[in-house]
Amino acid sequence: MISSDDLTLGRRPAGRTLMTADWLLAYHGEGHCLVPHGELVMENGNVIFAGRRFDGEVARKLDFGSALISPGLVDLDALSDIDTYVLVTDNQPGWAKGRIWPRSYVERGPYEMYSPEELAFQKRFSFGLSLLNGVTTAAPIASLYYRQWGETVAEFDAAADAAGDLGLRVFLSPAYRSGGMVLEAPGQILPMFDEGRGLAGLTDAIAFIERQHGRHGGLINGMLAPDRVETCTLDVLRRTMAAARDLDCRVRLHMAQGKLELDTMRQLHGVSGPQWMADHGLLSERLIAPHATYALPADLQHYADNGVSIAHSPLVSARMGSTLNSFAACRKLGINIGMATDTSPPDLLMNLLVGLIACRISEKASDAVLSKDLYDAATLGGAKALGRTDLGRLAPGAKADIAVFRLDDPYMTPTVDPITTLVLGGSGRVTQAVFVDGRLSMLDGKLAGFDIRAARERVQRQFEGLIAKYPDRSWQHPPVSEIFSPSYPILT
Ligand SMILES: [Zn+2]
Repeated sequence: MISSDDLTLGRRPAGRTLMTADWLLAYHGEGHCLVPHGELVMENGNVIFAGRRFDGEVARKLDFGSALISPGLVDLDALSDIDTYVLVTDNQPGWAKGRIWPRSYVERGPYEMYSPEELAFQKRFSFGLSLLNGVTTAAPIASLYYRQWGETVAEFDAAADAAGDLGLRVFLSPAYRSGGMVLEAPGQILPMFDEGRGLAGLTDAIAFIERQHGRHGGLINGMLAPDRVETCTLDVLRRTMAAARDLDCRVRLHMAQGKLELDTMRQLHGVSGPQWMADHGLLSERLIAPHATYALPADLQHYADNGVSIAHSPLVSARMGSTLNSFAACRKLGINIGMATDTSPPDLLMNLLVGLIACRISEKASDAVLSKDLYDAATLGGAKALGRTDLGRLAPGAKADIAVFRLDDPYMTPTVDPITTLVLGGSGRVTQAVFVDGRLSMLDGKLAGFDIRAARERVQRQFEGLIAKYPDRSWQHPPVSEIFSPSYPILT
């Protein structure tokens, strides 16, 4: 346990704070290096020293003992709703289980399945979970299936306040789309478009970013979030990329993530999503592209040529039977990769383990990728995707965005090397403390002004309310008991 009189949740300690532990991951020269019993000093939200020994005066010293002081993790697709994919993991096919709007639901008029308060609450809850898992920078993502259409400005204003209250760095704006997929008959899914709604969503997102960017001491950052390549028209994407230049922000667009998307893009435009974007000159280093699991070799070459970053969430992909082909091959091509959760549990360290396994299976080689490669992606790769050299690293001038991971947790393999231990441990539950912008945002599972256990109870009730509405948007509207079967027969 650390002992310090003036360390308070939600506060940035005054003056210089020195932290030490068995291991410090500092940034020197070209990359991370491990410093045994290293010292990190932060002041006014910035790192002023990260190395072997600090000679100057400090206001306090914190010794975390058997732990790694690490740059906080960057989550490029940070789950920000109550994950609905868990409902279809064992209940397939997804189109029959409310994952695609049936024509009858479109005709009755889609509606918001959560209240504005519920939408705001689930973001606050998710931001809390990010901090509990050592994430200091999050670009939230949520499903649009249960929405009337796109995300709303009101819930993102509330999300920005939640990030400010909890002390989480975020990159965000409401997601928009100019189209959606409609289930016309079993297995027959066709796109429908309403371009005006996409353009209106973009206008709202731009206004949101102009109003919110830089708030809460810089914790709030703009990022445009058109939903998916197949649900956006060319005009919406052209205007999106132009707006990103004007606003100097990033754009996240799901691309090359599934067979239905590839089939739809070929039917609509004759080529894959990345190829279509490349043909219209819309690929650039501003673009963050989840998940690339269905990227063709030419698509990946376009990413490499244009500086597109991949947001890699191996857990959700592997659970759906796909993987990036491969993490190692993409890096060899020179593509920047950042990590993402995108699903529940929103555990980035778990994703590093799954990413390591997935790459080795994909390459059929036990040395195809190393723990440090995944760790680089979760820190430096994510920061690069966001265009920030002051995040994802601990060096003078960087933001004091820090995660402290326990190495002596009984579940963790004994330490030979702290990075291998953390990646093979595969669990963010070893996160002991998180600082964002020098402020203590999480300590021993506790958050500033937010009771995560009470929130979890509320999440359950909210989720049950959503499940009760699933018949409305499931094919032929069966009762809930027929949509979601239990794993085993229920004995009554
Ligand atoms: Zn995703």
